[in-house]
Formats: sequence, structure tokens, C-alpha cells
Amino acid sequence: MGRLVMKFGGTSVANIDRIRNVAQHVKREVDAGHEVAVVVSAMSGKTNELVAWCTEVSPMHDAREYDAIVASGELVTAGLLAIALQTIGIQARSWQGWQIPIKTSDAHASARIDEIDGDKLIKRFKERKEVAVIAGFQGIHEPTGRVTTLGRGGSDTSAVAIAAAIKADRCDIYTDVDGVYTTDPRVVPKAQRMNKVAFEEMLELASQGAKVLQVRSVELGMTHNMPIFVRSSFDKPEDIDPHGTPPGTLICSEEEIMESHVVTGIAFSKDEAQISVRQIEDKPGVAASIFVPLAEANINVDMIVQNVSEDGKTTDLTFTVPATDYARAKETITAAKAKIGYARIDSATDVAKVSVIGSGMRSHAGVAAQAFAALSERQINIRAITTSEIKFSVLIDTAYTELAVRTLHTLYGLDKA
Ligand code: ADP
Ligand code: ASP
Ligand code: MG
Repeated sequence: MGRLVMKFGGTSVANIDRIRNVAQHVKREVDAGHEVAVVVSAMSGKTNELVAWCTEVSPMHDAREYDAIVASGELVTAGLLAIALQTIGIQARSWQGWQIPIKTSDAHASARIDEIDGDKLIKRFKERKEVAVIAGFQGIHEPTGRVTTLGRGGSDTSAVAIAAAIKADRCDIYTDVDGVYTTDPRVVPKAQRMNKVAFEEMLELASQGAKVLQVRSVELGMTHNMPIFVRSSFDKPEDIDPHGTPPGTLICSEEEIMESHVVTGIAFSKDEAQISVRQIEDKPGVAASIFVPLAEANINVDMIVQNVSEDGKTTDLTFTVPATDYARAKETITAAKAKIGYARIDSATDVAKVSVIGSGMRSHAGVAAQAFAALSERQINIRAITTSEIKFSVLIDTAYTELAVRTLHTLYGLDKA
């Protein structure tokens, strides 16, 4: 007998039929003798609708109220799944984040989980033989008693955090694809499913835009060495042997992975914006005069490129920020104009970041150089480049995203036969 967390994303609970299907998946594991905690997302599209309503009432809404509103989607699915389970003879009870409680920071809309008391859940498993159906994506900031949410895609993080708290054997993430692929299979049909991916590589894939797992969930998995298994909720529950090995991708520590590739996968993100601050005097302290105010405004700067301006005397600083922070970043730089001393700002929002990830890059030279050559053959202009130990990223025009991803996917031999 084992202990499992099963997490079901938005498409997996999109309507009552899908929720009934989820109940069958849960029943299968319960019948096999496992103790099960289930984490659910809101029905697909629900969170987007709730977010849009907040913005419609006021674009500059109070983050505490935003959280109160958007957390509601998950409450509905948790209750519905508990009923669906009871209907097929499985004892189940739904739990809202604050009832567990899932204690978080007060960073509303992107709170971090601080603590979950897993012992209470374990005790209930033992005493009541009951499936816990937990609303994902949410928690409580105890000192203020306010509901918080964990950022978009946060149910993955709820699931892994609960798995760690109850010392589960595994955290199963059921979604609308049957695993993690070499790149988004909806963009590149030739993408291949991977059997295993190392935490480190998955962390890079997720943080560079592969939204199949929220970044924070992978971080937690790595910290607690909690195996995460990404699999499809669309596989028929009755066809699955609970003791067999279903199709899916295991995210685990690097030591457990025998085969290693130079490039593991490619991720992309269209939610980027580029800002170029032109003709700044080239002297010590200039970078600080730009990036300190941005940091104080809580804006994450990603790629940074510095080069000589057209006039040959001054310098240009180009950087990227998340598209959602674009307007605020521009305002922040404009407000600091006197201190920075620049001629003008140029900016673009039709940019995308394409990232190539692989732990083999540590020991192989020239991996990025191959990409630059292949992209130039396709006439794709590179606006900025960043590299780190196991990845490199290029910033390009959004219109070329799919072409660039497919070109690189083929270049690194990732296409399936
Ligand atoms: P859920 O609602 O279950 O949380 P998401 O939409 O958040 O599902 O994540 C699943 C989606 O992630 C897939 O439909 C797929 O389009 C996308 N995706 C992006 N990159 C990858 C990848 N490398 N492997 C698998 N799926 C990916
Ligand atoms: N419902 C939330 C969202 O759409 C959380 C999740 O699905 O993981 O972002
Ligand atoms: Mg998701």
C-alpha cells in the first residue's frame, strides 16, 4: 500500500463528465489500496473568466480581493469531485486551502507556501479511510486570515507541497498531454515524450515557458526529492493497471537518469517585452540607476545586453521584462530619467524568447553557436542572447517563434521519426 497525491488540471475537470472520469481514476487507486489526496484546479477557462471580471471592475484592483475571487474556481471543483466520488461509493471530503490549512506568505496573487501540517491529513487517512479532495492554487496568510493564491498554474505547486507534507510516495500530475515532451507538442507535432527528466532540466523548461508544470512545483519537488509523474487524465481509467507503468514522464533526480542528451528540450515564451534605454553616459553606476528602481518595483528583469550607441560615445542598455510588467517598467525608467540620463527609450512587445535546455551543455562546446547559424539561415534575427550552465535563450520577433522552435528541434535531433 502506498500514499499518493493525484492532481487534476483545468481540462481534466472541464465539465461534469470529466469530473466523473476523474472520480474513476481516483477510485482505481483507492481500490488498489492506496491512501489518496486529490488536488484539483478550477474548470478550464474559469480562472481566466474570474481574472477578467476583476480587471473589468477595476484594472488596478486590490490583490487581496483578486485572491478572494480567483480562489473560488477551485472550491467548486473540489466539492463536485467529492460528490462524484461519494456517488461511486468512495468516502471523500473536500477541503478549501484555509481548512487544511495551507499556510502561505502574504504576497497576494503569487504567494509562497510556508507550511502544511500533513499529520492531520495522515491521521484522517488512518481513522476515516477517506479521500481528501483539496482545492489547489490557494492558501491562507494566517496572521491576516486572508485567502491567498499561488500564481497562475499554482495547483501543481499545491499538489507537490501536499505530497511532501504527507510524505507521499509520488505526486501524479494528470493533465491534457501524456507527459513532458521535448517541446510543446501542440506547436511541434514531431515532439517526443520523455520517460524521465531531471529536476534541474524541468526547472529550466518550466521557467522558460513550458507551462506543463508551474516552476515552483518543480523547485519543491527538487527540494523534497518528491518524484513527480506527469500523465494524461484522458487515458481510460479502466485500461490502467494501478500496479503497472502507465505512459507518462517522471521528473526525478539526475542520478536516476541513465541516458543523457546534449539538448533535452526547447521552451518558448511569448509573454516578453523588450526595453532599450538609448544613449546613456558610459560610467560606473549606470546599470544600478536602471535596475535598482526596477527591482524596487518588484519587476523581474531577464535578458540584459549592453552595447555602444549609434553615436559611438554613449552606451545602450537593452533588457526584457514579463509583458505584464511592461507598462510599469517603462514608467519606472521614465520616472528615473534625470538620474539615469538617457536620450530615449525604444521598446517592443512583439518579442518572444526561445530557450534550449540540456545538462549535456555543461560538457559540450558550441551548442549555442549551431543554433545561431541555423536561425540565421532562416533569416531569423536575434535581438538578445543569454546563456547559463545548462541553457541558452534567444530573443526574436514573435512572428518567428514557431519557425525557430521547429528549426532548433530538428537541429538538435529531437524530432521523432
Ligand atoms: P493543466 O490545466 O492540466 O494544468 P496546462 O495547460 O497548465 O494543463 O499544461 C498542459 C499544457 O502544457 C499542454 O497542453 C501543452 O500544450 C503545454 N506544454 C508546453 N510545453 C510542454 C512540454 N514540453 N511538454 C508537454 N506539454 C507542454
Ligand atoms: N486555476 C488556476 C489557473 O488557471 C490554477 C491552476 O490551474 O493550476 O491558473
Ligand atoms: Mg497547469
